[in-house]
Amino acid sequence: MQTRLKQALSCPHNLSRSDIAELLATTEPASLFAAAYTVKERHIGKHVALRGLIEFGNHCQKDCYYCGIRKSNLQVNRYRLEADDIVRLAVWAYAQQYGSIVLQSGELEGEENTAFVENILRRITAETHGKLGITLSLGEQTDDVYQRWHAAGAQRYLLRIETSNPALYSQIHPADHAFARRVNCLHTLRQLGYQTGSGVMTGLPGQSLEALADDVLFFQHMNLDMIGMGPYIPHHQTPMGNALNLNPEDKEKQLQLALKMIAVTRLYLHDVNIAATTALQALDDRGREQGLLAGANVIMPNVTDVEYRSNYQLYDNKPCLDENAAKCRTCLTWRIRTIGESISWGQRGDSPHWQPNR
Ligand code: SAH
Ligand code: SF4
Repeated sequence: MQTRLKQALSCPHNLSRSDIAELLATTEPASLFAAAYTVKERHIGKHVALRGLIEFGNHCQKDCYYCGIRKSNLQVNRYRLEADDIVRLAVWAYAQQYGSIVLQSGELEGEENTAFVENILRRITAETHGKLGITLSLGEQTDDVYQRWHAAGAQRYLLRIETSNPALYSQIHPADHAFARRVNCLHTLRQLGYQTGSGVMTGLPGQSLEALADDVLFFQHMNLDMIGMGPYIPHHQTPMGNALNLNPEDKEKQLQLALKMIAVTRLYLHDVNIAATTALQALDDRGREQGLLAGANVIMPNVTDVEYRSNYQLYDNKPCLDENAAKCRTCLTWRIRTIGESISWGQRGDSPHWQPNR
């Protein structure tokens, strides 16, 4: 393992598929995490960038078998925040020096939704003088919609491929959720000039370590700027999660696999932004901090009003359901300090990999 790590530390893309699978298989990951942290520190320093996450609506036209807000889950209370509230939360995040936000919701296509988001983007851009980083995570859309939202002020887009293995993709989605469309969307986003992010769920039923190694190669092939990955966590009201309950041992396994995936991704790609996602914290209270120590450099604190959070549960045991954004800011500052890092307040935190006008 030490030879592989040395090799990976020396330059990006310096691991084979089987090297990556081998690193993912390790049961003693301390040196893997340390090597990934060294690479992270080289490109980013001991800094963590923040994205204030606004989960502005849970209506969704899709039916992903793993997700708690899929359209067939009739037990969800559906909501969408008013435009004024979304703008208020974004301006609050800006005033609190978050530097950037993520606007996320279920996937909706159609002119009403497109124009709604476009109008919000214009208002936020105007009220924050174009200084706030804005990421969208609103699923698959047409080229024209992506173009309109980019023109209205969104500079980044997150669209997880979920798994780069088409056979596994088709097992976790209904037949009309096309893998090819998702890949095409990622190409379009790059061509339009977005900082483009993708990622996968780790620990899916039937997912091999080789499939995860292929995911890392896929990230490179797609020339991504940002990676957002997290452990798959069952949701009891879904076809994939209805009979599943993670026991403490399973949770630890899921957490370790997700952390190892962050580390090998850092070691393979070197200069991208990688998020320590909230799903890590659902498995362990210190999950996100462990993610940062395994090579991640971005955290996405939830700034959505507390009253809506329980209606946006993609998986069971979502953390921080009752912690308001101001409290969360204090808690985060403390958490980051305990691992010897500091928050880059007021910075947009662009991906070091991203080259404008490429
Ligand atoms: N609708 C948009 C954005 C919201 S879903 C989209 O699908 O792109 C955001 C992410 O939540 C998904 O990409 C998926 O990776 C993750 N997610 C959904 N259900 C999950 C679960 N049960 N466990 C872990 N992550 C999940
Ligand atoms: Fe909808 Fe996204 Fe959940 Fe799929 S993962 S059901 S697109 S919110």
